[in-house]
Amino acid sequence: MSFEQLGLSTDLLRAISDQGYVNPTPIQEQAIPVILEGKDVMGGAQTGTGKTASFTLPMLQRLQIHANTSMSPAKHPVRALILVPTRELAMQVHDSVKTYNKYSTLRSAVVYGGVSIDTQIDIVRSGVEILVATPGRLLDHLQQKTLTLAKVEVLILDEADRMLDMGFLPDIKQIIQLLPEHRQNLMFSATFSPEIKKLANKLLHNPILIEVAKQNSISELITHVVYPVESIKKQELLIRLIQHEDLQQVLVFTRTKHGADRLAQRLMRHEITSEAIHGDRNQLQRTQALDNFKQGQIRVLVATDVAARGLDIEELSHVINFELPNNPEDYVHRIGRTGRAGAKGFAISLISKEENNLLIDIEKLLGIKIKTEQISGFELKETFVQEIRKNTTGAEPRSKRDGFSKHSKRASSFVKHGEKVIHFNKERTTRNAMRADNKVDDPLFTQPYVSKYADINSLLEESSEINKKNNHRQLSKRPVPALFISPVANKQKKSEAS
Ligand code: AMP
Repeated sequence: MSFEQLGLSTDLLRAISDQGYVNPTPIQEQAIPVILEGKDVMGGAQTGTGKTASFTLPMLQRLQIHANTSMSPAKHPVRALILVPTRELAMQVHDSVKTYNKYSTLRSAVVYGGVSIDTQIDIVRSGVEILVATPGRLLDHLQQKTLTLAKVEVLILDEADRMLDMGFLPDIKQIIQLLPEHRQNLMFSATFSPEIKKLANKLLHNPILIEVAKQNSISELITHVVYPVESIKKQELLIRLIQHEDLQQVLVFTRTKHGADRLAQRLMRHEITSEAIHGDRNQLQRTQALDNFKQGQIRVLVATDVAARGLDIEELSHVINFELPNNPEDYVHRIGRTGRAGAKGFAISLISKEENNLLIDIEKLLGIKIKTEQISGFELKETFVQEIRKNTTGAEPRSKRDGFSKHSKRASSFVKHGEKVIHFNKERTTRNAMRADNKVDDPLFTQPYVSKYADINSLLEESSEINKKNNHRQLSKRPVPALFISPVANKQKKSEAS
């Protein structure tokens, strides 16, 4: 299917083509026509699937009737509100809005905490049709009466699961009360926890469920490797990996803010340019660190989970878990930064004996076997490695090499395009070139929709079990384009059953 077939306007098609996109991703194919019709949507999709464009494009098209060039703020009330959990995601989503809105006179703005509210007030007061916001800062603006939500026609909750995890539910409820009752609601979430379903049931009217991949699915283009190592030797091993493999753009995850700072400093002492990004760094520092990383000015960005949520860094080949996350789902979010849009990626984890159980949980959740390797000079006693791997059902036998694993070689092969070898941190057009060549083979981008739900009831009744099942593609016999979840129909079914 082409973008033209989705019914998008010429201006939007131009903006899409400027981005080098060739075909819509599965979520775009499904969501765009439905959102254009004005329906509510519950989207099950993680970052990296093209979900931002899937809601931004039809939203912009629907708002186009309000586009005008008047100088009067009153002519530019907020018509679309996009709520996101973090400042970084807010900026990213707003960048997408600007990208797709470039041929229109609709105005947009982004508001988030951690920076002075004054500049935001000036922008918002001048009138914007599209507002991207984190819930807390939006409430600050509403309290200061710098804007009103009385004319909102579309509400979008992006990464709703993360917003709930971060405790934004009361803020969201407060915001919803200030919206007109008649509006379109779009909710996107990587997971469908009972809390998410409760919120969906309250918020959405006869929503269409659109799912693009199984829960906790991961790109098949990512190669996972585990290096068992003593905790005290982790820093040394990381430095060795980065230097020996000449990794130029690596996102490293630590569990704590303090750990992130310490690691970034240690890397700098070894002349590996790096910066840390976490909740204790102010907004300016975070934005600068991210920009420096994206532009290749620093090789390593050391991040904590919350700070890194939703980051879209093009062509990132390596994610290294310096420490495994406590929550196995965070592993999925972490490594979702690589292996995107058809590019290959490597997810490397340095694990100490104490992290054995976390590894077991991750493997269970993903339903994959993660390969174990060792680096010479960092070998562990056989018994230690066995202990690390015991209980990891079906884990592949450890392979020991005298040098380094194959991943660096494969990393450079993914950046090879045509005759020219493109260095992934220097050349940003690779992915677009791959798209233009139609070489994108990321399953998240190309596979048909397959719903894991046999029927409406199974979706709404399902509880936390959802996270334990990890292969709905196998459960479902045939592709289901989209599932219509009507609470009314559901109620009827329930009463019939009882
Ligand atoms: P998202 O899931 O919204 O974070 O998007 C992930 C990445 O996919 C972003 O860098 C987008 O620019 C890119 N993208 C979105 N739609 C398409 C498309 N149709 N073709 C290729 N890349 C896309």
